[in-house]
Amino acid sequence: MERTLILVKPDAVQRGLTGEIITRFERKGLKLVGARFLQISNDLAARHYAVHKSKPFYNDLIKYITSGPVMAMALEGKGAVAVCRKLMGATFGKDAEPGTIRGDFAMDKLNIVHGSDSIENAEYEISLYFKPDDLVEYELNNGRWIN
Ligand code: GDP
Repeated sequence: MERTLILVKPDAVQRGLTGEIITRFERKGLKLVGARFLQISNDLAARHYAVHKSKPFYNDLIKYITSGPVMAMALEGKGAVAVCRKLMGATFGKDAEPGTIRGDFAMDKLNIVHGSDSIENAEYEISLYFKPDDLVEYELNNGRWIN
């Protein structure tokens, strides 16, 4: 089953939105298979955002993602990568549709949540935050009511 990496970013943790954001994904029917509350080091941030190294906003991005603790989660479900991107909404809060996480909680570039943008990146990103043993294999009791 497809998996994706979600981060509840530092602004969302500080604003007390961690539970609300987890709920959005749970309510949709995604299965939580890994969770870790951590402060991202500069080294981990650089590995996570290596694709953005040449971008003008790279330094701001590293400063942002290392500015406080995050909640990292591995979520599982049919088409999990695309489903989570839809739930998150457009990158900047002002552009994101109401009803999406960013549309409901963000105004600008501090955008509350990260989600992998491809299956390949999801596998890589999950491996940055979780050892294979950290991910839990189990059946959701209500899974047959979702799938
Ligand atoms: P995402 O996949 O929707 O998160 O967007 P991107 O992969 O394009 O960018 C990664 C992250 O970099 C975004 O979530 C923002 O936190 C940040 N970011 C993107 N563009 C900008 C920008 O122009 N300025 C700043 N400061 N941050 C940006």
